[in-house]
This record gives sequence, structure tokens and C-alpha cells, in this order.
Amino acid sequence: MTDSGERKEQLAANLAKVEERIAKACAAAGRSRGDVTLIAVTKTYPASDVRLLSSLGVGQVGENRDQEAGPKAAECADLPLTWHFIGQLQTNKAKSVARYASYVHSVDRARLAAPLGAAAVREGREIGALVQVALDAEGDPAAHAGRGGAHPDEVPELVDRIAATEGLRPAGLMTVAPLAGRYAGDARAAFARLAELASLVRAAHPAATMVSAGMSGDLEEAIAAGATHVRIGSAILGTRSPLG
Ligand SMILES: *Cc1c(COP(=O)(O)O)cnc(C)c1O
Repeated sequence: MTDSGERKEQLAANLAKVEERIAKACAAAGRSRGDVTLIAVTKTYPASDVRLLSSLGVGQVGENRDQEAGPKAAECADLPLTWHFIGQLQTNKAKSVARYASYVHSVDRARLAAPLGAAAVREGREIGALVQVALDAEGDPAAHAGRGGAHPDEVPELVDRIAATEGLRPAGLMTVAPLAGRYAGDARAAFARLAELASLVRAAHPAATMVSAGMSGDLEEAIAAGATHVRIGSAILGTRSPLG
């Protein structure tokens, strides 16, 4: 078999395992499988893997660095894919990200809204913008390791700002299970808190329904807490080098 054939088999087997975990978690939570969308996080892996995943039925892909995602998305422009930008976003990268991203999960400051919205308008698209919530900051700002994310108290105002920005549409909230602060080591409690914040957001912006939470190690906890989008990298593509 060719290398690409072997890689395809490996990806298919990994996808099947992840699919089974998602299905089990949905069943355990009394949720329908259709309520949860899988985003395959392809960071550090080549466009050829994205192409194979697409051939296996994956339609949603996530990337966290614009320098890498831009060329990869361009190489895969012929595929029916929706790109999610999930990494920390510098203002000067907004223009580039707007070329390929339908969703940005990592809006964490008001200053990002205007440049991202303007870039989306120039590209003729509306970006679904999620506010990334830093749950390590709750009740203990000193615990916030600066990995990105807005303080929970800032979330409603930030969502309002997104709603008021042409080119952006408030899509929901995102978090990464925190390593510090009151939720450290308790992903389930962190995701439950995210769900609570998300329902406050929906009260003001009913279309902002996305709850982006759960990675390879904690997708079950996220689905139990109500996540609508799980972002899965290593369980599908393999473990990355420590720098990835
Ligand atoms: C890398 C990454 C993921 C995927 O993580 P895995 O543990 O490989 O599944 C999800 N979300 C964000 C924000 C990431 O940077």
C-alpha cells in the first residue's frame, strides 16, 4: 500500500474511535449525536492530511497559527471545508485570517472586533465570532497564565461589541480547560461554568448557540456539560511535538 493509503487508514481508524467516543458521550448525556459537531484540529500536520480527512467526510477543520493555516487553507481551497481559527489572534493577522476562516473561536478583547470585522467585510464574508473565556482568571486574576481569553466578567460586553460590528456575528463561547485557578483539574466544572455563561449570552443573543469546548483528553466532560463543538487534534492526527 502507498504511504498515503496507510495514512488514510490510520486517520480513518482514529476518526472512528473519536466518533465512537462522541456518540457514547452524547448517549450518556441524553443528547442527540447531531447536537455535537466535530472540528478536526490539523495544526502541525500537512495539507495532505487535511485532504485525506476531507475524503473521509470531515468538513470542519481547526487551526491555531495563521502563518501555517493560511497556506494550508489555500492548498485545500478546492475542498468543501469550513475553517475555524482557534488560536490567539494578533490584530495584525486579522486580515489574513478573514481570507479563510468562517469562525474565529478566540476573540478575547474588544480591540480585535473592529479590525476583524473590517477584514471580513473586505472578503465579503461574515465571521462567526466566539468569545474565548479564560476560566483560570475567575476569582483569581493572578492565575491567568496569559494563554488568551477574556475574563468571565467581560464576556457580555464583548459579545455586545461583536454584535455591533459589521462583518462579525456573535456565535457563542469557547474555552480550554484551565490548568490554574479554581477549575484546575476539574474540566467538568469548568465546562459547566462555560455552559452557564453561554446561556446568559443566548438570553441576549439567541443565535449565539455555539459552545466550543473539549479536546482529545476531555471531550466526554465537555459533551456532558453541553458543548456543541469539540476541537479534536491528537486523537485523530497523532501526538504533536512539544512545540506544536
Ligand atoms: C491544539 C488545540 C486543540 C486540540 O487539542 P488536542 O489535545 O490535540 O485534541 C483544541 N483547542 C485548541 C485551542 C488548540 O490549540
